[in-house]
Amino acid sequence: TEYYSRKEREIKDDRKGTKGSLKSPCVQLNNKVSIWKGDITSLVIDAIVNAANESLMGGGGVDGAIHSASGKFLKQECMTLRPCLTGQAVITGGYDLPAKYVIHTVGPRGEDPDKLRSCYENSLKYLLENELKSIAFPCVSTGIYGYPNDKAAEVVLKTVREWLEKNNEKVERVIFCLFLEKDIRIYEEKMQLYFPIP
Ligand code: ADP
Repeated sequence: TEYYSRKEREIKDDRKGTKGSLKSPCVQLNNKVSIWKGDITSLVIDAIVNAANESLMGGGGVDGAIHSASGKFLKQECMTLRPCLTGQAVITGGYDLPAKYVIHTVGPRGEDPDKLRSCYENSLKYLLENELKSIAFPCVSTGIYGYPNDKAAEVVLKTVREWLEKNNEKVERVIFCLFLEKDIRIYEEKMQLYFPIP
């Protein structure tokens, strides 16, 4: 119990520290976000996000998994698109995936909070533009692109938190799709800070 009370205190202190950036820490947004462990290509959802590269022509990691699960028509659609810049996003169909759409975003190589933030914001913009209700994000940039996992999670949770403060009514669910044990540990801890259960 001593551990827990100490932990709670730390969380409260930490919340105070982030208060300035979280406009309304009392608004209940934690019912809009979930963490889920597994393969993003298995999700039956409006949109999954792909951690793509500029060419949009597929690659390793989650990009490779999405391209192989969606079938060749995704590549055909991507061939019609212009290359995507770091921090930008573009939407395509989901084809053979259970997800209706794929939102491809190009994460920064290494630590770049502004670019990572814009990946998530631009992806969420497509969600609204297409009147979609649910979206799942992988941990963009934290694989091959080498963004430190804990630093990335902080940017992601802050970005989504601030976005939900403005757009809460327009969406039903934002899922953080986690593939690695270390991300599960990180998100489970940090979710309590950015989406506290009252
Ligand atoms: P980046 O090039 O942006 O770093 P990666 O695909 O290398 O992208 O990694 C991003 C994250 O996606 C990593 O946490 C990786 O473990 C995870 N990942 C890999 N395959 C899948 C998958 N099928 N579903 C969900 N996440 C995945």
